[in-house]
Amino acid sequence: MIARYWTRLCGNAVIAAHLRGQRAVPFLPQPALETLRDRCIRDMVSYAARTVPYYREWFARQGIDPREITGAEDLDRLPVLDKEVVRARPRLFVAETFSARGAVSFSTSGTTGTPIEIHHDRRSLLANIAFGERERAPVIRGCGGTFRPKELYVGYETSTFKKVQAFYKENTLLPVRPQRLFVSLLEPIEKIAAIANAARPDVLVGYGGWIDLFFKTIAARGIDLRPPKMVMYMGEALPHGAREYIEGRFGIPVLSRYNAVEAFKIGFFCEQRTGFHLHEDLCHVRVVGADGRTAAPGKQGKVVISNLVNRATVLLNYPIGDVGAMSAEPCPCGRTFTLLSELEGRVEDILPLADGRFVHPRAIWQVFKSDPEVLQYQLTQHELQRFVLTLVTVDEPAFRRARARALPELERVLGARATIDATRRSEIDRGTSGKFRAVASLCATSAVH
Ligand SMILES: [Zn+2]
Repeated sequence: MIARYWTRLCGNAVIAAHLRGQRAVPFLPQPALETLRDRCIRDMVSYAARTVPYYREWFARQGIDPREITGAEDLDRLPVLDKEVVRARPRLFVAETFSARGAVSFSTSGTTGTPIEIHHDRRSLLANIAFGERERAPVIRGCGGTFRPKELYVGYETSTFKKVQAFYKENTLLPVRPQRLFVSLLEPIEKIAAIANAARPDVLVGYGGWIDLFFKTIAARGIDLRPPKMVMYMGEALPHGAREYIEGRFGIPVLSRYNAVEAFKIGFFCEQRTGFHLHEDLCHVRVVGADGRTAAPGKQGKVVISNLVNRATVLLNYPIGDVGAMSAEPCPCGRTFTLLSELEGRVEDILPLADGRFVHPRAIWQVFKSDPEVLQYQLTQHELQRFVLTLVTVDEPAFRRARARALPELERVLGARATIDATRRSEIDRGTSGKFRAVASLCATSAVH
């Protein structure tokens, strides 16, 4: 009993040690932020070169002194990792150190394939609570200064979520825990609205695709909803136009956080909602163009991350599977953290056609974006010329009307020889991971990943 109390007390001490100045970090003057970021990069690169088998071997083979990597600019010299190698041989990326031996293992959600095993050392898990202060500030402000905003969290209790909760329960004595009410996204939308009306949360939290479906269904069915003060989406991008729709129609600001099992905190929206402010000293982000070089601001490319906190699984230059663009504009909020645009194609696929063309999910979105009777759509490509379209509509007549409007448009986009079977559902099956893909291809090629 005493030993357990001591463990939790030590946990609190680690959090407290990291808490100092967290709220100020996103506002650091640019030179100070760059100095901090580059120091974190040097520390992690030297740790990797000494203790992580993959990097130890790479530096030896290349004959490069790790001290030559002095900051963000030099990260380009390290190889961009192959996700398949990380998936197949996770141990190659785990440090051979004492802190890595006591690490907690997690797995990625695996929407794009078999899950990847990622270990997080205990100290970085505890520090992660302190880093959360940076992201809490805009939420507290948006909720009228409430110190503990009440959250209604709609999702799945994933294994990561449960493990993190269990870890913090065992290892900390937090005096103030978040006020969080959890509801499964498999519950009917009417029921979730009723729970929200009774609980009056400050923040509604959910996956992007689900948030979109929720508000469209509320509007289409005329369901009574006392609006929360803020909407927070995570885990997947919102479909195009959904944020403008929710903010315009319901008057609720929509914010997001960019997290991944591979890095935990990557970025967060501020009050201005201009994109993700990147935690530059926790996870370095590069956007890499098709030519393999760092893309200019405003140009889209693959998001490549380097986690600078976790001392168990060390991933430098890791393509996380998202597409985004850096912003050259500073944010009016005064934070100096670089801005990453909202992510594109996080869970949707680009469709390869039989004639060699590619169709971007945005083209499919164009077909449905102004159709008020389509609450949600999903297009799955089973073979190059065979598609299944699933539409969520209020009733059968609405489905028939929406189908009649959509099919000629889809044929125009996908080609006249494409066969499209359309079916109606009351809600779309989200798959085992709970993530929703509006456009999915089961054909091998994907231009995004
Ligand atoms: Zn900002």
